[in-house]
Amino acid sequence: MTTVIEKAEPADRLTPGTPLLEVRDLHVEFKTRDGVAKAVNGVNYSVAAGETLAVLGESGSGKSVTAQTIMGILDMPPGRVTAGEILYRGQDMLKMSNEQRRRIRGRKIAMIFQDALSSLNPVLSVGYQLGEMFRVHEGASKKEAKAKAVELMDRVRIPAAAQRVDDYPHQFSGGMRQRIMIAMALALQPDLIIADEPTTALDVTVQAQVMDLLAELQAEYNMGLILITHDLGVVADVADKIAVMYAGRIVETAPVHELYKNPAHPYTKGLLRSIPRLDQKGGDLYAIKGLPPNLYKVPSGCAFNPRCDAATDLCRTEIPALHQVLDKDGAELEGRRSACHLWKETLHG
Ligand code: SF4
Repeated sequence: MTTVIEKAEPADRLTPGTPLLEVRDLHVEFKTRDGVAKAVNGVNYSVAAGETLAVLGESGSGKSVTAQTIMGILDMPPGRVTAGEILYRGQDMLKMSNEQRRRIRGRKIAMIFQDALSSLNPVLSVGYQLGEMFRVHEGASKKEAKAKAVELMDRVRIPAAAQRVDDYPHQFSGGMRQRIMIAMALALQPDLIIADEPTTALDVTVQAQVMDLLAELQAEYNMGLILITHDLGVVADVADKIAVMYAGRIVETAPVHELYKNPAHPYTKGLLRSIPRLDQKGGDLYAIKGLPPNLYKVPSGCAFNPRCDAATDLCRTEIPALHQVLDKDGAELEGRRSACHLWKETLHG
């Protein structure tokens, strides 16, 4: 019997490390009655087949807007792409027709959202919703689609899948619903999955299980994975590299373990200090002072300057470039960049 998500590689599956998606100098803004909010200001990042990129930032940092622009699901208007390219397998998706984008969405690039309960239809069984992918995209019969739905549920380790295939979303726990969302994203064996805060609504233990499952399936199917999160704690074990965003810009990029060991941006330093640690007992948990900026009134210079203890006059007037980070001997550190005037002091000080 042919199985739905057995490791049969689709004919055009890329070999690990082949560039899959590249976002180049992307600018997105929102025009509203309150003015123009520049949500994404020149973002660059890329992900290869088999690679996991974590995009980290607080709410309003532009991480989700970038993801929605990649997926082609951003409301336009009020949203507007003012510059940039989004290359999928070398082709700019921003220049594609709606029909071409629609063919990529779901089939080639799939998305997992934060809130499974509102993403699933409450009046349709999960089996029907999973099966619909195969009925619509592959012309499967009702019976075939149901069999494939059971198989997918099995694959994401939902116990007693055959008995539960006709259950409704509210009959599953939060963790199980998120597994169903992962199954849905996996159904058509996409090249790339974008997971937007996939575990935020879950408790810590279930969070870890869902992240492990996602990482395992991503490696098994050699997919690219973009993991969007506000929580540095959840990505340490699964990501290869990280892009930290603040006020619509990337402020630091690094291979994941290097960023944890020695960040080169004060904002990343603050985020790392605010992760609860088991070996630290007592005392208040550190929190970065202040709030992320209002995107209609972003501070001049470095947008982080009102919250940064190291800020100088230069920081208040000049936007820092995304500098290549060097080691103490002046050698380039691969994949490491920091948008801080004081990156040297931050990294080596
Ligand atoms: Fe802080 Fe200045 Fe660096 Fe911005 S550029 S993070 S304000 S030190």
